[in-house]
Amino acid sequence: MIPPSFDYYVPNSVNDAIGMLQKYGAEAKILSGGMSLIPLMKLRLANPAYLIDINRISGLDHIKEADGLLRIGALAREADLEKSDLVRSKYPVLLDTTLVIADPLVRNRATIGGNLAHGDPANDHPATMLALEAEIVVVGSQGERKIPVTSFFTALFTTPLSSGEILTEIRIPIPPPGSGGAYLKLERKVGDFATAAVAAQLTIAKGGVCEKAGIGLTNAGPRPVKAKKAEDVLRGKRIDDETIRQAAQLASEESDPKSDLRGPAEYKRDLVRVLTGRALHRALERAQGGK
Ligand SMILES: Cc1cc2nc3c(=O)[nH]c(=O)nc-3n(C[C@H](O)[C@H](O)[C@H](O)COP(=O)(O)OP(=O)(O)OC[C@H]3O[C@@H](n4cnc5c(N)ncnc54)[C@H](O)[C@@H]3O)c2cc1C
Repeated sequence: MIPPSFDYYVPNSVNDAIGMLQKYGAEAKILSGGMSLIPLMKLRLANPAYLIDINRISGLDHIKEADGLLRIGALAREADLEKSDLVRSKYPVLLDTTLVIADPLVRNRATIGGNLAHGDPANDHPATMLALEAEIVVVGSQGERKIPVTSFFTALFTTPLSSGEILTEIRIPIPPPGSGGAYLKLERKVGDFATAAVAAQLTIAKGGVCEKAGIGLTNAGPRPVKAKKAEDVLRGKRIDDETIRQAAQLASEESDPKSDLRGPAEYKRDLVRVLTGRALHRALERAQGGK
């Protein structure tokens, strides 16, 4: 289908983009990779009168470490994450995530900022950002504000971004030595959204005790789920088969999936249990130096 007509603007700076967003208010939409927005427009589920294409704004596609943080510009594309030496060498959970998003064609366009701003609980990055305890940086006419990712997904397709704000950067605390993570996703076929998926990130201290644990769930509720009870049961303990079994069970109980074409809710809850167990085992192996 052909989308409804719209006016198209291409600002060259964040300030210009914010000016346009303010001028056109709720009738305007930011266009990044367009991999979610354009299909919605074609289906007539979104009908913005003004598209503000931010792709020509420079300085929004970095992937670098600075000030104790991994800083990822909102316009970094999945393909950039996939090719980044930094991500490949130090952020296995992020690499796992980007590699299972859609297909190479979509990954060449889709941006990490768009993936998060869309607020879709079926998208893969939200769970990973919950596991990594990221912070989302947004800029509007009042300046910059930083939103912990735990407060970023407020309801289905809903975030605290106002219509005059742009997501500009994602900041992830650099994991200390002894950290490892993994993202595991079950999809009906390659390129599909998750039936369910789990991100796990662990930091294991010298004595083998879990210092930090982060667990995020994809497509397991009306918004991305942080499995707090599962994280709590791991922290301060030596991670073994039994603690992983307990955490996996708790994650399953914290999930709230709906029955749909991808399967009944009961099946998906059990899938969360199985994937959490496997993701934690892999995260532990990686925290201990494995691949
Ligand atoms: C065939 C196909 C398969 C897919 N499979 C998956 C999958 O398996 N996993 C997955 O996670 N995703 C999947 N997606 C969805 C898609 O990859 C993501 O939603 C995409 O990354 C969104 O990013 P974008 O840059 O394309 O955003 P856009 O489509 O440009 O924008 C999405 C929304 O976010 C807003 N927005 C974008 N950037 C910003 C910003 N910087 N600041 C504020 N608001 C912003 C837009 O206004 C719009 O409302 C799939 C998409 C397709 C077409």
